[in-house]
Amino acid sequence: MRQCMATAEVPSGPLLLAILAGQGRVSDGELVDVPETARCELGLWHGDEHAAFVWDWEHKPTDALWARWTPDGTMRFESLTHCEAEGGADGDACTLYRDHSRDHSWNVVDPEMESLRRRVLAENAGLLAWLTRKRE
Ligand SMILES: [Zn+2]
Ligand SMILES: [Zn+2]
Repeated sequence: MRQCMATAEVPSGPLLLAILAGQGRVSDGELVDVPETARCELGLWHGDEHAAFVWDWEHKPTDALWARWTPDGTMRFESLTHCEAEGGADGDACTLYRDHSRDHSWNVVDPEMESLRRRVLAENAGLLAWLTRKRE
């Protein structure tokens, strides 16, 4: 399943307030990690609002702060518990939140990363053939 392509600007003031409301303080060093834009991490054609991870709580490792936004760009912040379902080819834990819509993260493919992967493979087909050829 392909990843939703929605992006949105993250309003830094409201995000900072949401972080402070959750953990009481935030250091200047940590603020470097605050994202300026959010990219929806759900699978395409999800029914809920778009959702992107924005902040790891220092006091509550089972939860994280997520940005949720509607198609008109109205964004709110919500603390959500990790999904943690395991599966996929490598038995990875899902990086989304509990009760998210659509597929778990290991089934969601970023089309940009996928096309990059294909292009790199295509451009280096000769090299790959050389690397994987049978030695005589
Ligand atoms: Zn979305
Ligand atoms: Zn999941």
